[in-house]
Amino acid sequence: MEAAAERWMDRALRMAKEALENGEVPVGCLMVYNNEILGKGRNEVNETKNATRHAEMVAIDQVLDWCHQHDKDPAEVFAHTVLYVTVEPCIMCAAALRLMKIPLVVYGCQNERFGGCGSVLNISSANLTDTGEPFQCIAGYRAEEAVDILKTFYRQENPNGKFPFFCNYFNPNNKLKEFWNRRCHLSLSMSFFLHPYWQHRNQKYGKRNAISDSPLLMEN
Ligand SMILES: [Zn+2]
Repeated sequence: MEAAAERWMDRALRMAKEALENGEVPVGCLMVYNNEILGKGRNEVNETKNATRHAEMVAIDQVLDWCHQHDKDPAEVFAHTVLYVTVEPCIMCAAALRLMKIPLVVYGCQNERFGGCGSVLNISSANLTDTGEPFQCIAGYRAEEAVDILKTFYRQENPNGKFPFFCNYFNPNNKLKEFWNRRCHLSLSMSFFLHPYWQHRNQKYGKRNAISDSPLLMEN
């Protein structure tokens, strides 16, 4: 991997650490266009109380803002933008990246629970109509560091034992994967996807609502 990529991934890992320091699932990313950082995201889910504020979504919004400010066509900019992200984009983000027609994603570790670039679904390369363009992935780049940051986070969250259900990026017993394969195939059901996130937030903030009959929970 070239020196520039090394530098970008360093910055993405720094964003992940910033997320860690702010009590967020530590994922960080950069959007790089013509050697310039247009977007710099980290998870902001807890802070914003918005389950869709993943690092990639934050960075996509920044790129859109930049395009607006510089009077650039977002389609042209995204077509020449590379995403560097510490963890494999989830299904939601992979779908967003497809829609934005980003050509290349360089990522660190796999996201065994929610990965949309092969781990759970193959949003990145699937032949899907009316959902943007497939994109290329370079996986496993500085994966160990990305995993270490995640492990630190989950140890803080849950020092006495198991990682919480949705948070477990490493569990080989991949129930959600089976669930998706069996039930959902390639339908991008946002509400199903977001269920575990809501559950986690409800646990964390004590705001319970009617999610106990979630099909995801029944699967487990
Ligand atoms: Zn995501």
